[in-house]
Amino acid sequence: MTDTFFKVEAKCPTTRARTGEMQLSHGVVKTPVFMPVGTFGTVRHVSHDDMEALGTPIILANTYHLYLRPGPKLLKQLGGFHKLTDWKKPILTDSGGFQIFSLPEQREIFKTGVRFKSYIDNSYQTLTPESVVSFQHTIGSDIMMVLDVCVPSTCSHDEAAWAMKRTHEWAERCQQAHGHRPQQKLFAICQGAVFEDLRRESAAWLCERNFDGYAIGGLAVGESKEERVHFTEFVAALLPQEKPRYLMGVGTPHDLVRSVKAGVDMFDCIIPTNHGKQGVAYTWKGKVKLRRSAHASEQIPLEEGCECPVCRRYSRAYLYQLLKSGEPTAWRLVSLHNLHFYDSLMKKIREHIEQGSFGSFAEDFLNNVPES
Ligand SMILES: [Zn+2]
Repeated sequence: MTDTFFKVEAKCPTTRARTGEMQLSHGVVKTPVFMPVGTFGTVRHVSHDDMEALGTPIILANTYHLYLRPGPKLLKQLGGFHKLTDWKKPILTDSGGFQIFSLPEQREIFKTGVRFKSYIDNSYQTLTPESVVSFQHTIGSDIMMVLDVCVPSTCSHDEAAWAMKRTHEWAERCQQAHGHRPQQKLFAICQGAVFEDLRRESAAWLCERNFDGYAIGGLAVGESKEERVHFTEFVAALLPQEKPRYLMGVGTPHDLVRSVKAGVDMFDCIIPTNHGKQGVAYTWKGKVKLRRSAHASEQIPLEEGCECPVCRRYSRAYLYQLLKSGEPTAWRLVSLHNLHFYDSLMKKIREHIEQGSFGSFAEDFLNNVPES
């Protein structure tokens, strides 16, 4: 698995940021990239047409949710994710590890795999490293993730060490089960909570096994912002230069800028669409909380000069009205603006890295755009 599907293109002279390109089965993805989360086969509140109009190059789908519905048998019969959903571009699928481990009362972890209770019909289901890989083959994922054991960042050293070792055993079994399928890439997940010795051990162990890419897992699960920033930098520096680095489940625009500085290439997060539903819009001047009555009479777009389809047509006053009335159209419109904002941010980041000016861009963004 040493083909060069990923190539680093430009490097920032003052930070660890870099641009690159991934050649995947369903298309080319420029990095750094933000992947919107399409849990059940669509990004919440928006359609594939919207995503295509925005130019979104890749979305993330959740193995856990697709495993419960439609399930392996029906999805195979329906021809896999791309055929079922008619999404034509690349997808990355997580392994389900994060969702399963966020239900501590309803799952048991064994050496062989994990048993959990389905939220659909309360039946007991088992996922093993082998079945997770086999199901991601059925899905037809461009990028697959290994099954990992995710623990809260606040856990003890012993617990984090145990979870890391099991993650390693399962990663090796995933790699064996995957075999030689160069059209589908398999990424490993570095664990070790907020312990430097464990993170170092995890990165070294996984890097020796030559996965297609490496994810930083186990962050944004209870640690402080300072710890998250530190461990993102710490782990990113331990991962190979020539492989893509993916920070799972993160984050805000500020998190993205800080993590690109640390050398991260890929991100996913539910924030743009979750905040869309709450009526919170990201702009280059910070967040606009649209439910506040101050916006009721504002006949200006969410952001002056924004080229998204929402800002080109609608005012804050109208969006306020829709949100207050509980109209789902509001969730869709604010989500669209947010997805456009994230996409523009990543585009700007890539341009600045290419031009050698990312260091000052990041400093300016982090110092001048309000975070909350
Ligand atoms: Zn806009």
